[in-house]
Amino acid sequence: MIAVIGGAGYIGSHTVKYLIQQGRKVVVFDNLSTGHREFVPSHIPFVNGDLANKNDLNQLFKSYPDIDTVIHFAAFAYVGESVQQPSKYYQNNVINTIYLLDSMLDHKVKNIVFSSTCATYGNSVVSPIKEDHPQIPINPYGRTKLMMEQIMEDYSHAYGLNYVALRYFNAAGADIECEIGEWHEPETHLIPLILDVAIGKSEAISVFGSDFDTPDGTCIRDYIHVADLADAHSRAVDYLLVNSDNLKLNLGNGEGYSVLDIIKTVEEVTGKSINKIMSEKRAGDPARLIGSAEKAKQILGWYPQLKLEDIITTSWLWHMKKFGGTK
Ligand code: UDP
Repeated sequence: MIAVIGGAGYIGSHTVKYLIQQGRKVVVFDNLSTGHREFVPSHIPFVNGDLANKNDLNQLFKSYPDIDTVIHFAAFAYVGESVQQPSKYYQNNVINTIYLLDSMLDHKVKNIVFSSTCATYGNSVVSPIKEDHPQIPINPYGRTKLMMEQIMEDYSHAYGLNYVALRYFNAAGADIECEIGEWHEPETHLIPLILDVAIGKSEAISVFGSDFDTPDGTCIRDYIHVADLADAHSRAVDYLLVNSDNLKLNLGNGEGYSVLDIIKTVEEVTGKSINKIMSEKRAGDPARLIGSAEKAKQILGWYPQLKLEDIITTSWLWHMKKFGGTK
């Protein structure tokens, strides 16, 4: 059985849906601080628990003794917020995650698939980024994730923990069947904010910085569809069930798109014109993050299937369904 911590959140719920479709046994553990109960099918075991509460974790592993693997999504992931409120990030993303690891080990659960991030690299010195690129994060969010990678490595040596750290580039897109999708409160991510403009919910998108060292001056990111991420998690679980070495893998499409490229693609897909306001840079944003996923391809046989247009199209369908269209 797989315990999905944070399975009611964005990437978590898409992964849960995928795992269920594969016929796997899943229990979801989530405190619903940012997740959505309706994103988890009602027939799936659901524990409303908090990582900060050691008793909740103990209950999870006691109630479901056949858990052999954990997938851990329950972390805060806003770069800007992490600069403003680092305490919140270190508390949840590091301290509470140590509680999770300790509880796993108390119950003899040794396998974990961990949500890491390209933010652990900081400013890229070569592009695309491979896994052995220096990891010098430039914001607290990235530091929390790098610390957890290091802590898991120490736990692996000392206690036999077995981990796969998946370093996501920019997760985006929505369920192909449009049952679930991106729904953050508040929303800070680029694509849903542009779609808010497309449906008339907001007037314009702020473009954070236009003098980065990139061809059009705006930040470049590698957007990866959440369904492709779900597939990678499933493969990582399979890997852990038969291997005892640890992995650190990039998950991206290997293609970079600037903020202006994304706005243009949204205009093409939706047929709406998007007003933009050139604004100040956001603290903690590196200019360019593009990942090489060759290692994940070789080791997990993972090949992302969905491209930028699929990402924007699925996001648009979900966004209209969830947030309506007024324009
Ligand atoms: N961005 C922007 N305007 C917004 C939100 C984001 O220009 O309202 C930019 C942001 O600076 C970054 C890119 O879009 O370069 C992707 O940001 P997002 O928050 O979606 O993901 P992140 O890269 O922070 O994980």
